[in-house]
Amino acid sequence: MGLNNDIVNYLSNPKRILESELEVRGKKYAAYRIQYNDVLGPTKGGIRFHPRVSLNEVKTLSFWMTLKNSLAGLPYGGAKGGVIVNPKELSERELEELSREYVRAFYKNLGAWKDIPAPDVYTNPQIMAWMLDEYEKIVKHKEPGMITGKPLELGGSKGRKYSTAQGGVFVLNELLIKLKKSFQKKDIKIVIQGFGNAGSNAARILYEQGYKIIAVSDSKGGIHNNEGLEIPEIIKYKEENNSLKGYKNAEEISNKELLELKTNVLILAALENQITKDNAANIKAELIIELANGPITPEADEILNKKSIMVAPDILANSGGVIVSYFEWVQNLQAYYWTEEKVIKKLKEKIIKALEKVLEISEKKKVSLRTAAYIIALERIIKASKLRGEL
Ligand code: NAD
Repeated sequence: MGLNNDIVNYLSNPKRILESELEVRGKKYAAYRIQYNDVLGPTKGGIRFHPRVSLNEVKTLSFWMTLKNSLAGLPYGGAKGGVIVNPKELSERELEELSREYVRAFYKNLGAWKDIPAPDVYTNPQIMAWMLDEYEKIVKHKEPGMITGKPLELGGSKGRKYSTAQGGVFVLNELLIKLKKSFQKKDIKIVIQGFGNAGSNAARILYEQGYKIIAVSDSKGGIHNNEGLEIPEIIKYKEENNSLKGYKNAEEISNKELLELKTNVLILAALENQITKDNAANIKAELIIELANGPITPEADEILNKKSIMVAPDILANSGGVIVSYFEWVQNLQAYYWTEEKVIKKLKEKIIKALEKVLEISEKKKVSLRTAAYIIALERIIKASKLRGEL
């Protein structure tokens, strides 16, 4: 892009880093909220509860949110939050207390026109409900647009629960048509790493569309059946057993083996840094969909590019979540709620528009889809920064 040093320096640092220590029943947890850049509007991004959260991770995720919101054409800057905690070790009451503490620590910088959180890894609509409730108690008025990913009863949007996966499936369908011209869905093999909100909903939607899902995994390991997995049965099994381990009609497989399976499509829906320079050369997929944020390291990305493996980058492929979060916020501001059909139709329009622009720039400049996505996102941010006189 030929950006000068002033622009690079400006983009290299977050605008606001908020840190706190949350205390729940005598135990302390480090908590962060980073508002990376707000030239396009109030900042927006999820909150992650995970033992491996760090300031650096939240910083990186908040930068990606800035790019993602810009690429999708949303009127938002980017932010992210995190707490260093293993929520699986907390009781329900402790989890509620932690969520409320988070809001008590950062409420001055949150709000529908300031910074709007949402769920991320190991946070969910119930946690959003506690956070909204705490916020409204403190500010003494109703403000459902201060947070998204809420339960429907508290102003959530229809379709939000599976929107990240649905957006990724729209992108997957379009790119397969580009790669293969004509194909039958039942002949397309798909492998999915991660079986949480993003991964399991992607599995369900793709199964319903007739694709053949041959392997899925969660943090404890994976299952594989080359003839195709019965996804509805597996979703039920995971709900009942909290794990995929022990599921009968498939063989067990490690996460490492799963990533290296021969497949048409690999969907990454777990965490960062899953494909690195150590395993990139062994990847056999033709198309990779990044539903997770940052699952491929830059070194690995280069290796995949050389192997001509097409990668739908995270800031495009998983933007369905924040796009429908935006619709949720719009509905909250208008206090007027849409049908599920309208939400999904508008999601498709927005994500396909972003994809088409990415394909156009990628072809025009002869760069990867990721580089094209970054160029489009950065151009919009830089223009807005200049208009505001920040650059
Ligand atoms: P989640 O907490 O619902 O699920 C995470 C899943 O990953 C779980 O099934 C967990 O067992 C699995 N996992 C963890 N470590 C693993 C490993 N080493 N190997 C295989 N599986 C592993 O979280 P989620 O909301 O589905 O988020 C997953 C990814 O998608 C994250 O990178 C997140 O930032 C990204 N994302 C989510 C949304 C959303 O709306 N939920 C939106 C955009 C991006």
